[in-house]
Amino acid sequence: MMSNISKDLQNQSDAEIIRLQAKIEERDEKYKLLTSLLPEMLFETDTTTERLTFVNIKAIDVFEYGSDFYTSNLYFTELIRKEDRQRCTEEFQKFVASENSVLNTECTAVSKNGRKFPVSLHITKMITNGEFSGLSILMLDQTAQKSARQNALNYKENLSFLSKSALNFLTLSSDDDIFIFVGKNLSKFASKSIIVVFSYEHSSDISKIRYISGIYPHIDVLIDLLGKSPEEFNIKLPSKFKSKYLSDKTLKRIDCGFKSFLVEEHLLEKADQIQKQLKINHYYSMGMARDSKLFGGLLIAVRNDTDTLDTQTIETFIYQAGIALHRKQIDNELVKAKLAAEASDRLKSAFLANMSHEVRTPLNGILGLAQVMLKSEDIPLKFRNDVKMIVESGTSLLTLIEDIMDVSKIEAGQMKIRYKPFFLNTMIDQLYSIFMSNPLYLQKNAQQQNIELRYEKPCENIAIMSDPDRILQIMINLIGNALKFTQKGFVHFGYTIENEEITFYVKDSGIGIPEDKSEQIFKRFTQVDNTLARKFKGSGLGLAISKGLITLLNGRIWYESELEKGSCFYFTIPYYHTTMLADDDTPPEKSAEEPDWSDYTALIVEDDTINFKVIEAMLQNTKLQLLRADNGQKAIEMVRMNPHIDLVLMDVHLPVLSGLDATAIILKIKPKLPIIAQTANAMSDDKDKCLEAGCIDYISKPLDMEELIGKIAKILTGN
Ligand code: ADP
Repeated sequence: MMSNISKDLQNQSDAEIIRLQAKIEERDEKYKLLTSLLPEMLFETDTTTERLTFVNIKAIDVFEYGSDFYTSNLYFTELIRKEDRQRCTEEFQKFVASENSVLNTECTAVSKNGRKFPVSLHITKMITNGEFSGLSILMLDQTAQKSARQNALNYKENLSFLSKSALNFLTLSSDDDIFIFVGKNLSKFASKSIIVVFSYEHSSDISKIRYISGIYPHIDVLIDLLGKSPEEFNIKLPSKFKSKYLSDKTLKRIDCGFKSFLVEEHLLEKADQIQKQLKINHYYSMGMARDSKLFGGLLIAVRNDTDTLDTQTIETFIYQAGIALHRKQIDNELVKAKLAAEASDRLKSAFLANMSHEVRTPLNGILGLAQVMLKSEDIPLKFRNDVKMIVESGTSLLTLIEDIMDVSKIEAGQMKIRYKPFFLNTMIDQLYSIFMSNPLYLQKNAQQQNIELRYEKPCENIAIMSDPDRILQIMINLIGNALKFTQKGFVHFGYTIENEEITFYVKDSGIGIPEDKSEQIFKRFTQVDNTLARKFKGSGLGLAISKGLITLLNGRIWYESELEKGSCFYFTIPYYHTTMLADDDTPPEKSAEEPDWSDYTALIVEDDTINFKVIEAMLQNTKLQLLRADNGQKAIEMVRMNPHIDLVLMDVHLPVLSGLDATAIILKIKPKLPIIAQTANAMSDDKDKCLEAGCIDYISKPLDMEELIGKIAKILTGN
């Protein structure tokens, strides 16, 4: 009975076990089905952490094992590339021993066929009945993410490369540097390929290799085949090649290889051999062009062991190179144009200097003789006015020449500013006395127009540092204009000092300047009244010169004006205070008597007979003994032969030996002999050169009789 009962029980429990097993199997199937639906790979190991007890279908697919997976008794570490195995095993064991419930790690997996791919692992511990029973490993294929990350990285790197290269192109100083820069950088992109960078000369239609890489292991064979090194060739690219491959902004694959860019017969024959020798598979080419003008190009010969080319980056880079070469060409043209302009400027200056000399020399004769005639009592009264007019017209011609010279000098950058200390109030007094005897002023007042000429000196007589000659020139011009354009009323001038600046002003009650002409009047040759029937004389150069000089003096010029009421011109110069011994403000009294220099002898070195006659006439009343030499060589001989010569008046421009060379030799013979130079060349720095050559003084042509006598008096009698 008992045994029956126990049999029943036994049967019951067996049925239960079978039922439970079926349930477990059903669960297992469900689990497998579920895991097979997972897009990730899933593995389970036993407690060894390595022997696989479960693999989902996805993993079987990815690892390319098929049904072998179950029979091959695989270890998880066998699915990992060798280099990562040891690390992974250690990490797993450490993880099992730790309290951690999750381990995240990365490695490279290897499929049955050897395909490697990056994976990330998400690992948890499996616990059965409270005991560690193995690892559950979720594996994610990272290929897509890794390549997306790599692409993003490449993109960033390329972008940074292109922005850096755009800047580098700006700093490269020659087209040679540009070609080499292009070649070197492209070799980095396609290190296994042959990179050829060539220039293209439009006028000769010739290309030359300016950079080549990747051929050096084969150079000897190449030279053997070609007859010379590739860089030595003058290449004439077929026009078909140029238009097909070099004319747009894309990197193009060349269809028929080497042959398409060679025209020379004997090279064509070698093309296949060369291609074989260098193991070239195919070519790419692109032109370096800008505004459809070709400056050069690129050829990439891709070898069998190919490089993958980042076409977009190369295209942008080569496009940048085209722009850089274009800019370099414009730069070179500009440099050439600048050199030509400088040469023509020098020519212009030389021309003006010569013209100055040529025009001033005869003018010297006219003005000198006219001055002498005016001084003479023999001249009949009826001619006196005519002679006066000769002097006046001659003087205005001279002023015009000097104005043109000044404008040219300013424009050619040859106007020199000579800083020296001077007294400000003394200059104002000087200006006043110049204009009190100015014919323009005298004439107006004589015509009862009563122009009041007044000046203001707001400070004590301080000494400042600037160029007094230039400031005087500007003030004379502005006061002259004020008098010219004022019919009635006043002309006031003076200065104020404020904020480290001296502001000079010239104010008048004249015709004023229309507002719309304000832009023009500082331009050369411009006048408010441009009609033929102009009321006022003038060249339209005065304000242009003044503005140029003021800029050189680091100042500004401007004006305020009201039509029919008057104008006020202002200009500034920096206020550099200085100290200087007070000079005698009053000009030395002129001796009423004519000097008697009959005991003295002067050597006049002058090649122009009329000029000599002028000097002779000017000095006639002084009774100075005159000797004449008409060239530098003769002057030296005369000094040697006439030890009693007291002074020399030396013309600078002389035939045979120049005045300055003659001066140097004369001073070696008689170091103390005073020599006064006569300069007619307003353009160059003759005056400085005269002093450097040892002259004691200089006088410019046309000679002014009083100035000449004054300078000689200073030497002969010391006053
Ligand atoms: P110029 O006096 O030889 O004509 P400037 O360059 O000195 O040449 O002056 C240019 C023009 O500016 C003058 O022709 C005149 O029209 C105008 N201008 C200059 N100064 C004055 C002034 N003080 N009053 C009125 N107009 C003036």
